[in-house]
Amino acid sequence: SSFGFRDVDAKEKVRMVRGVFDSVASNYDLMNDLMSAGVHRLWKDAAAARLNPRPGEVILDVAGGTGDMARRYSKMARRAQERRGDPSDTNRDASVIVLDYNAEMILAGVDKGGEPEMSWSVGDAMALPLPDASVDAYSISFGIRNVADISVALSEARRVLKPGGRFLCLEFSRPTTGAIRKAYDAWSFNAIPAIGQWVAKDRDSYQYLVESIRRFPDQTTFKRMIEDAGFRSVTVTNMAGGVAAIHHGWAI
Ligand code: SAM
Repeated sequence: SSFGFRDVDAKEKVRMVRGVFDSVASNYDLMNDLMSAGVHRLWKDAAAARLNPRPGEVILDVAGGTGDMARRYSKMARRAQERRGDPSDTNRDASVIVLDYNAEMILAGVDKGGEPEMSWSVGDAMALPLPDASVDAYSISFGIRNVADISVALSEARRVLKPGGRFLCLEFSRPTTGAIRKAYDAWSFNAIPAIGQWVAKDRDSYQYLVESIRRFPDQTTFKRMIEDAGFRSVTVTNMAGGVAAIHHGWAI
């Protein structure tokens, strides 16, 4: 066969990840709240503020799941538009695209309800169904960790961004102090799989999620990958002592 080891590995990863999100889609939002003790909401608020959505912009939220980030972007862009003046000036509405390769997640998001600025699309972070230089801002929240080839996703982000466009990634990262790491290990190795078993009746999927967090590159390594994809002025903002981090950069 022509498949090298790396290809087989990537295929297996895609299969695993799809399985995980198929099985969790219906419980997804509840699980997020339980596993992060509600804190993911604050991280998402901080990330949305960092992206600073503006009226009239095209904003793409990749691996957007049930639309948590896209709802924030829509409301923030609208508020900025209202502050500027005539809120009925529809020409300046933002357009916020939620893209996810799992139709179940999208459907759960549609059920939850959207904002007028939002549209939903099924597609892959590694092959975005969008032309070059077509979006003002790209975001990916708790999604890139699951992508089979992170570098491909980053270069796709770079491709679809206009010159001057912003890249933002919110993802689990490395706790920066020993004390936080200890507490976090106890929580993620014991509590998260137990909650997964209890709520979703699926310990294995949540065990997999915990392991995928551990395998994901640390702040500095990931920053370098973003720079290698052609982004400039990349900054890292740690959340909860590095349990999660926001990476932000500019396409030039
Ligand atoms: N962004 C949402 C949030 O922050 O709540 C959802 C995050 S959820 C943990 C990860 C999402 O990534 C899932 O909805 C999954 O279907 C999606 N996903 C994983 N790999 C993907 C890929 N290659 N392309 C598009 N979506 C992907």
